[in-house]
Amino acid sequence: VKGFDPSKIRRDFPILSSKINGQPLIYLDNAATTHKPRCVIDALSRFYKLNNSNVHRGSHTLSNRATSEFEAARETVAQFINATDTAEIIWTRGATEGINLIAQSYADSVLCAGDTVLVSMMEHHANIVPWQQIADKKQAQVLPIPLTQKGELDLVAYKNLLNKHHPKIVSITHVSNAMGIINPVIEITHLAKMVGATVIIDGAQAAAHEVVDVQKIGCDFYVFSGHKCYGPTGIGVLWGRKVLMEAMPPWQSGGEMIEKVSFSGSTFNRLPFKFEAGTPPIADAIAMAEALRYLDSLDRAAISAHEKQLRQLASTLCQKIDGLTILAAEPENVGILSFTVAGVHHQDLATLLDQSGIAIRSGHHCTMPLMAYLGCDGTVRASFALYNTATEVERFAEVLQQSIAQLLNVNLTPAVDLRAT
Ligand code: PMP
Repeated sequence: VKGFDPSKIRRDFPILSSKINGQPLIYLDNAATTHKPRCVIDALSRFYKLNNSNVHRGSHTLSNRATSEFEAARETVAQFINATDTAEIIWTRGATEGINLIAQSYADSVLCAGDTVLVSMMEHHANIVPWQQIADKKQAQVLPIPLTQKGELDLVAYKNLLNKHHPKIVSITHVSNAMGIINPVIEITHLAKMVGATVIIDGAQAAAHEVVDVQKIGCDFYVFSGHKCYGPTGIGVLWGRKVLMEAMPPWQSGGEMIEKVSFSGSTFNRLPFKFEAGTPPIADAIAMAEALRYLDSLDRAAISAHEKQLRQLASTLCQKIDGLTILAAEPENVGILSFTVAGVHHQDLATLLDQSGIAIRSGHHCTMPLMAYLGCDGTVRASFALYNTATEVERFAEVLQQSIAQLLNVNLTPAVDLRAT
């Protein structure tokens, strides 16, 4: 991609110069988690070295410093997703916790027996199980929107489900973690709003790759995780509309989220603190904001184009391998290549690739219903990030081809020659 040089970017990521099993690391497991640039690692250690203190206590200088950095981080997140108000930004542990908060606070207060929550067949378990839990409690149902032959969300089936069930909640992933497909979230939201549904978008796989604009999408809630956007683990964000969140009951309770406590009853803090019980992950929030600033300091469109180009190259090379089938080969994709190989187990391939220093993910990718729908028990998934290079993709395809040949050969002839023993 013109004007985008991944070799320059790579210098910002200390781990990328590691060797794994004696080989230079080729990290193609970015959908699971991304690596951290030096500025994020430095932000964590700078906080603990210089500013460490609890927030919102206000009685000394360090605490004031920690509080202002922590609240500035919230402002950075608001800008990153184009939210209008920092009161709408709630720190969570990640996308999973965000969805659980919405299910247990919002859905718990609005769902009635017989109501429907609509998700899709391509959801991560984090966007299925919290809905099942609350639906069980409320005697509501969770229905999946089917997919087309290409693996895309079936919009005709979606419209039919909307008209038939008038769901109270539609919760859909922005990008599929197993296939990389980008869902048309603006259209999905618009259609759901026409039947009065509340819309939640799971942005875990989108935030690092697509420019997210919650106002443009028009959804009611948007969740994502820091660690998939070059930030720390254990920190994420829930964005929600103020009017909805003001009406919602608190989720976890304790310190920070209260206004007044007495044994005759307690009152709760204003947004966003109402949903942030206990001491928050202060350093992680500050470092997550650093990661988002790092991303925004780069050319986002060029990053996206670069990642898509890597996937295209990987796809072209993989298509030359006999017996290899790519999932969702055609639709718009962030840079995730998921495939199966006839006669070869995905875990065996992962093990052989790892021996050559190549990190990919194998398995069901926390999308068991999708795997069942596609008729497989798992795939090999290579997922690309801004620091990956065409040379890495070529090396991956070469080792992949050798590994498949090795495994198929092993399957045909005994691994040990019994006559010799
Ligand atoms: N949704 C999707 C689409 C994901 O890919 C993931 C992470 N694999 C999650 C939700 C959950 O994210 P986390 O584990 O960071 O909470």
